[in-house]
Amino acid sequence: MEPSISTTVLNFHDIRDRLVDFFKNFKDIETGEYKYRDRIREMIIEGRKSLVIDFPDLMSYDDKIAEMVLEEPEELIPIFSEAIAEVVALENPRYLRKIKNFIPRFRALPTSTELRSLKSNHIGKLIMIEGIVIKATPPKQRILRAKFIHLDPECSQEFEVEVRGDVIEKPAYCPICGKGGQFRLVPDKSTYIDYQKIVVQERPEEVPSGQLPRSIEVVLEDELVDLARPGDRVTVIGIVKLTNTFRGRRSSKAIYDIYIEANNIEVSQRYLEEVEITPEDEEKIRQLASDPMIRRKIISSIAPSIYGYWDVKEAIA
Ligand code: ZN
Repeated sequence: MEPSISTTVLNFHDIRDRLVDFFKNFKDIETGEYKYRDRIREMIIEGRKSLVIDFPDLMSYDDKIAEMVLEEPEELIPIFSEAIAEVVALENPRYLRKIKNFIPRFRALPTSTELRSLKSNHIGKLIMIEGIVIKATPPKQRILRAKFIHLDPECSQEFEVEVRGDVIEKPAYCPICGKGGQFRLVPDKSTYIDYQKIVVQERPEEVPSGQLPRSIEVVLEDELVDLARPGDRVTVIGIVKLTNTFRGRRSSKAIYDIYIEANNIEVSQRYLEEVEITPEDEEKIRQLASDPMIRRKIISSIAPSIYGYWDVKEAIA
């Protein structure tokens, strides 16, 4: 196996220091302005916790760190969060007390990956895909930190457990008294995050003739929820993951699905644009309204490049 590129070249503190320097001193080539210091100020004024990072800037500043972000995003993203927090501390220390975790959101990766070329060697990597949103669940609340109570009369203490994905595993033992036993989830005292799943289908121009388009599930959390709607053309940047599966006592599943945990989503083309209606249009609409087949005609005119999904199209119509 090839050695992992992280830690052998740069350690955590080196990377954090380099990133603090990047955020403080990176100048926009055209305007000469301190791009990320300005963006961090804007983020504070607008009360947000995420900072958009243009990937070409990072590559021109430090191509090693840029490569590590693509290869090992889950290790690098927390270092970015810390570096952002450090710059926020210089700008506005009070804001640090309000926001627990800053999020770097990347845009414009050097290459976009075609949906049909996604393979197991992409798992854990940061990639960029382009496609059309064909489905979106209503926004939901996912438990981010679950509060449990230890149902042991000698303890009865409450404690928090970080939840990854959509399955909560009951604790095996109590972190306070160290004993096992029964635990109960306390929903009212748990911490939640906005959560939504969308399905992105490859663009019609990417589908080889005679084949059905492929699609992939994308998980959106927090500020990314509700940004894209069915019919929108989107660019998604995220980490390729394997589905959470129920772990049986004796066996575990050998086949998994892959999905993308989004780091960023940009809508490049909104399907339902605002339209202006002229008197001639109005006349046409009146004519169409008397057509008995109009319902069918409207539904089949929606996103004709997307195969099937009659029910979704009907809902949009
Ligand atoms: Zn206990």
